[in-house]
Amino acid sequence: MIAAGLLALLLTAADADTGRQVAWLYAGMGLVSAGTLGWSWLKFGRRPAGVQQDNLWLRSSTSRGSIAWVTGLVLTGFYVLLYWFPEYLERLVRPLDGLSLWLRGQPANQWFLYGTFYTLAILLMGGRALWKYRHSRYQVIRTLSVMFFQTGFAFILPGLLQLFQKPEFYFTYFWPLKYGYLFPNDVNYLLENGQALGVFMVFWGAMMSFLATPVLTYFFGKRWYCSWVCGCGGLAETAGDPYRQLSDKSRQAWRWEVRLIYPIFGAIIIITALLWVNYSWGNNFLGQVGDVAAKWYGFLIGALFSGVVGVGFYPILGNRVWCRFGCPMAAYLGLLQKHFSRFRISTNGGQCISCGNCSNVCEMGIDVKQYAQRGEPIIRASCVGCGMCSTACPRGVLNLENGPREGRYAGSPLIHADSLRILS
Ligand code: SF4
Ligand code: SF4
Repeated sequence: MIAAGLLALLLTAADADTGRQVAWLYAGMGLVSAGTLGWSWLKFGRRPAGVQQDNLWLRSSTSRGSIAWVTGLVLTGFYVLLYWFPEYLERLVRPLDGLSLWLRGQPANQWFLYGTFYTLAILLMGGRALWKYRHSRYQVIRTLSVMFFQTGFAFILPGLLQLFQKPEFYFTYFWPLKYGYLFPNDVNYLLENGQALGVFMVFWGAMMSFLATPVLTYFFGKRWYCSWVCGCGGLAETAGDPYRQLSDKSRQAWRWEVRLIYPIFGAIIIITALLWVNYSWGNNFLGQVGDVAAKWYGFLIGALFSGVVGVGFYPILGNRVWCRFGCPMAAYLGLLQKHFSRFRISTNGGQCISCGNCSNVCEMGIDVKQYAQRGEPIIRASCVGCGMCSTACPRGVLNLENGPREGRYAGSPLIHADSLRILS
């Protein structure tokens, strides 16, 4: 059914007849949906509940084999068309006009097509995750949460805002991830076109970035956003779940993580500051430097990294490439989590049998087993609190906690010496 559905989607793009395009597109989406849910039930739903990691490293699709490469190429190709050659997607976009007019009061464009596919992927693969992890209350509620926030706040609500002639706004994305929301041009646009709602949108964006994010991260760690609310995290946790084991656990990968994510966070802070200084000086400060930097940032980080590499490379580099190496919001949350949070994963080392399940499923490349063997709590900036290490552990060794900061483990001399050696 999935294959037939994909074929129908290809026919949508190949057929010039507009009436048949609509039929092909909805038939394709229906077949892919029914096939995905049916396959998920066959694979997980009718079997006994419990983590099933069988053959992950033997299947071509989940171990960087030829199927994975083909999937990666198709995904990256789709993103390239989406960002830079949308005219080639026109025959997939037009059949969605009816849905778009009904929801947003305007014809579809390539971003509406993207939003529809993106939401469908989270809902369908979310269904798969609900069957696969149904024995874990944490995973069930967390999966329902990302499905809810994507459908309600990243698809339906922005559409309804446009239907009522209000600015398109995503209440679940904040600066520095949605960097434009605190750029002078966007702030002015919201204030001028949104009336009272526009003022609220600007207030909401600033409040979520500078007040709610530190407070919520203090209490719950970065998981409140990365694994429960964010659309990028939602896609990674559902559609990206088959690829979570591909994250590189080597020290070299960790070094690249630090080298990339913090400079990107620094870059967006500097660009935002430059734009505001320039704006408050009547656009006479350093000419167009801020605008040019923002444009390049949008191309390199906003499009190339977060889209083409971040999702297109799921089958090769794992499902959290963007969150781990590029997302400035993850860097911001990670710094707060590491230095200003009650969150930690406690480990009961005496129970660990060194099976390695936890490290295998960690999508952020953390070698959880090493901590478990030493009985040391995990306090890492990169941990998104997905809880999968704890879910996969057959011995109940790992526990996600929001305990008081007092007594929060600072690391053993062994770990410190090791870290210093890495840093030097
Ligand atoms: S350490 Fe555990 S909770 Fe943190 S990202 Fe890895 S698997 Fe998820
Ligand atoms: S903590 Fe659990 S999953 Fe990880 S190695 Fe030990 S027993 Fe295995």
